[in-house]
Amino acid sequence: MTGRHPIIQTRGLGKVYSQGTPAEVVALRGVDLRVEHGEFLAIMGASGSGKSTMMNLIGCLDTPTSGQYLCDGVDVATLDAPGRARLRLEKIGFVFQGFNLLARQTALENVMMPLVYAGVPVADREPRARAVLAQVGLADRAGHRPSELSGGQQQRVAIARALINEPPLLLADEPTGALDSHTSEEIMALFERLQAGGRTIVIITHERPVAEHAGRIVVMHDGELHEEGWQAPGKGK
Ligand code: ADP
Ligand code: MG
Repeated sequence: MTGRHPIIQTRGLGKVYSQGTPAEVVALRGVDLRVEHGEFLAIMGASGSGKSTMMNLIGCLDTPTSGQYLCDGVDVATLDAPGRARLRLEKIGFVFQGFNLLARQTALENVMMPLVYAGVPVADREPRARAVLAQVGLADRAGHRPSELSGGQQQRVAIARALINEPPLLLADEPTGALDSHTSEEIMALFERLQAGGRTIVIITHERPVAEHAGRIVVMHDGELHEEGWQAPGKGK
């Protein structure tokens, strides 16, 4: 972690999808976003406004059709596919609405999985995974499979998996979308603790109480991103 650059900086970021029906969808229109190390940002906006597209670009899972993205000072456009994969591995942990755990594997095995890709020696994997499971409050569930865990516990396993390589940036697309409001609050409290520990957190949500755990809220509207409180020109006539 350099700390000298914003962890996320986009300039005029655009995305046009050119496959499918309709033939062209402009999903992002010139998005400028700057996120400093240690911030907790929530991205809100209606369905179809471009939130997931934005997240996929920030997460280097997809490439923009225009504009620039610097991840911790690195211009992602200068990287080839293996370079982007390495950047993801080192800088970014992902959390999804549907948890995306491997059903046949235990919590411990799910959490250890990224260490295989990171080339961590076998003997180090289990102790590291157990430590991260303890960090999310699941030390006593290491041997359980996802079907033996509640939704909130499954999301904690997924968060532990996202944390295992100690990335500075955690990206979560609707992490509480499949959870009841009480469990959502617990998961958001966990994100707040992780931010207090120095991580940068970016979550997508359409639930206001969830977004209010963040230090800053931005809103997407038809592919544009604005700080909260922005009003579309010409509204209110
Ligand atoms: P949100 O996450 O805010 O619901 P998305 O980023 O998923 O919005 O989608 C933004 C727009 O881009 C929508 O109109 C959607 O239909 C379109 N879109 C998203 N992904 C694709 C894709 N892979 N191919 C074509 N269009 C897409
Ligand atoms: Mg989405």
